[in-house]
Amino acid sequence: MASVNLCFHGIGTPQRQLEDGEDVYWITEQVFADVLDLLDGRPDVRLSFDDGNASDHAIALPALQSRGLTATFFPIADRLDQAGSLATEQLRELVAAGMDIGTHGLRHRPWRGLTDAQAEEEFVVARQRIADAVGRPITEAACPLGRYDRATLARLRRLGYSRVYTSDRARCRDESWLQPRYSLWSSDTAGSIREIVQRRPSAKQRLLDGARIAVKRLR
Ligand SMILES: [Zn+2]
Repeated sequence: MASVNLCFHGIGTPQRQLEDGEDVYWITEQVFADVLDLLDGRPDVRLSFDDGNASDHAIALPALQSRGLTATFFPIADRLDQAGSLATEQLRELVAAGMDIGTHGLRHRPWRGLTDAQAEEEFVVARQRIADAVGRPITEAACPLGRYDRATLARLRRLGYSRVYTSDRARCRDESWLQPRYSLWSSDTAGSIREIVQRRPSAKQRLLDGARIAVKRLR
C-alpha cells in the first residue's frame, strides 16, 4: 500500500538557540493540532519527528495520545539532555506511551561524503547512545537535512538499519527500505497538508518522483 509520511520538527516556541535555517521547520501548536485532526481514519499517513526538540514531549506526546495516534521520534544523540531538547527520561516516556524511537545521528550534519570516522560517529556511536537511553535496540534512521548519497545508504544497510527516512517529498510503499517524507514548513496550514495527504499523484508524477530519488540514491 502507498503511504504518506509526514515529518515534524519543532512545535510552538523553540526553547533553545536554533541552527541556521531550522526556524522554517517550526510550526505553531494550532497548525499541529489541525493537522493531527485531519488524520482520523487515515492509517496510511505515518508521522515522524526529527531533531528531538523538547516540544516532542511537551506538545506532541499529549496531542498524539489524546487522538490515539503513534509516531516515530528521531532524536540527535548529542542533543539529548541539553536545554530545549528531549531529556533521557522524556524519551523513555515516549517509549512507554507506545512511540517508536530511531536515530537522527550524532551531530546533525549532512550524511554526504562522510569519512569513516564520521560515519562511525553518526551511524554506530549515536545509535548506541540512543539505544542505551531508551533501553532497547534502535533500527531506524532519519537523514539529517534530508541529505544522503550512495555510500551513506550502503553503510546504513551494512550496519543493519531496517529502514531509512529521507525528506524527498514523495509517496512511499510501506515495505520500502528507503522512506521519503514530507517535512512540514512554518508556511504550511491544515489546508496545504490536506492537499498532500489527499492528492493522488499521476503516473507521470510517480515516475518523476522515482527518477528524482534514484539520482540521489546513486550519486
Ligand atoms: Zn534534523
